[in-house]
Amino acid sequence: MGALNMIQLPSLHLATFSSFISPSFSQSSLKTLTPTRRSITRSSSLKSFLDLTPEYKPQSLNIDLERHDFTGGSPDYDAVIIGCGPSGLRLASLASKHGLRICCLDPSPLLLWPNNYGVWVDEFEAMNLTDTLDKVWPSATVIINDQKSKHLDRPYGRVNRNYLKSKLIQACVSNGVKFHVAKACKVEHQEFKSTVLCSDGKELNASLVIDASGFTTSFMEYENTLKRNHGYQLAHGILAEVEHHPFELDKMVLMDWRDDHLGNEPYLRARNKTTPTFLYAMPLSSGLIFLEETSLVSRPVMSYREVKQRMVARLRHLGIKVKSVVEDEKCLIPMGGPLPRLPQSVVGVGGASGLVHPSTGYMVARALGTAELMAEAMVECLGSVRMVRGKALQRKVWTSVWSGERMREREFYCFGMETLLQLGLKGTRSFFDAFFDLDPYYWHGFLSSRLSLQELALLSFSLFAHASLPSRMDIITKCPLPLARLVANLAANQAI
Ligand SMILES: Cc1cc2nc3c(=O)[nH]c(=O)nc-3n(C[C@H](O)[C@H](O)[C@H](O)COP(=O)(O)OP(=O)(O)OC[C@H]3O[C@@H](n4cnc5c(N)ncnc54)[C@H](O)[C@@H]3O)c2cc1C
Repeated sequence: MGALNMIQLPSLHLATFSSFISPSFSQSSLKTLTPTRRSITRSSSLKSFLDLTPEYKPQSLNIDLERHDFTGGSPDYDAVIIGCGPSGLRLASLASKHGLRICCLDPSPLLLWPNNYGVWVDEFEAMNLTDTLDKVWPSATVIINDQKSKHLDRPYGRVNRNYLKSKLIQACVSNGVKFHVAKACKVEHQEFKSTVLCSDGKELNASLVIDASGFTTSFMEYENTLKRNHGYQLAHGILAEVEHHPFELDKMVLMDWRDDHLGNEPYLRARNKTTPTFLYAMPLSSGLIFLEETSLVSRPVMSYREVKQRMVARLRHLGIKVKSVVEDEKCLIPMGGPLPRLPQSVVGVGGASGLVHPSTGYMVARALGTAELMAEAMVECLGSVRMVRGKALQRKVWTSVWSGERMREREFYCFGMETLLQLGLKGTRSFFDAFFDLDPYYWHGFLSSRLSLQELALLSFSLFAHASLPSRMDIITKCPLPLARLVANLAANQAI
């Protein structure tokens, strides 16, 4: 283990948590961070790791949920939350802690989450959630090219998603949250009450309906889509058993922008110059590593096949021989784009509400933090004798997600995305070279969405001043349209 800075879950956590997983998920697999998928083929006679097929067995938590009881008529809830992802469960656990009557709706509320989540440790510290990280790297690295790297003195963590989910569900159960196992199909509204129509024909009534169903929601209406276009983050990730890898165990690799692995692939190399991808790597031990070839943002979304081809070439060049693929993930995240129309009768949280960081694709820490603000707003309206209901309630809760200030800040992050879309490999390298030279207060704040509008403006000027001459020219010549759009959208948002 040596340099590994593994956060030891207290033995109580492991013992308690493992008893909540269905029996086939063993205690030893928890300890070795071995998750739920295993490849069925071994690597010896294979051309690349892509030939290793992870045998995916969806696993469920073994927790008794209190189901909504339809027999005695349908009592009204304070809120029905659609979706048991990180956003929905966090909100349910917090709102119910203050006595609100909550029902969560999901076709598989106990199914373990599939995504690998990485976060900055300070983000989780601020929410008292560091016990849900199963690995912490004291620092991170950004490899700009084969001559230059940046050392980032900011701890980074990997979320133990199974433990986080079990912790949130247990909190919900203790606070009396009810669950209904079905899909939400439609939401209908009256003046002070909404009804969720479910896939099994049942109905749930509540004062407020929250949409936590993720990016693919069908319950949100969005503002005029002509104003902003989405970019897309696309990545192929594997948690792999390897013979060895070249990365230090006490540093995670946030971005590796080297392209020398494409030397023998002129077609891929040329395309990588205009639509670059980088490697994201979380070394868990000398033989276990999470590797993800990532297109930070592209529009239209770049080819997934090509991302994987580039990854094959990169791993070969780095001498990484994959023995087995423990799990894999396709990561497609819509970034930027239109915000939900505000206010509207259903209130969104997480992926459904446009919370994803438009320049980075990160969201989980922000969503968990926003759930705290939403829970406060809900308790203020629903838990008090003031009985704030209907449109006033919806407006109040929406404001906790998207205040006018927050919306104006988002314009800057969208400008960041538009800039990155224009830059190509050379410009992207220069951009991050300058970005990570900024005062840590600024780059930490930018990546964690916690800078004020004024600070974001300062950051932009400072970044421009730090940038190399060619980079400045790049920004001036390639970004006048996004800049004009930023100014126009900021002006339009002043009215909000
Ligand atoms: C592969 C991948 C990796 C990511 N990695 C990171 C990362 O490292 N760091 C980070 O900050 N962000 C990351 N993200 C971005 C973001 O944090 C995640 O997408 C996150 O899971 C979003 O959480 P959510 O709760 O909003 O939605 P989801 O996690 O998508 O959960 C939605 C839930 O709603 C349920 N649902 C959907 N439709 C209905 C319906 N009609 N009725 C009832 N239930 C429904 C689903 O079953 C699901 O349980 C990643 C995204 C992806 C796709």
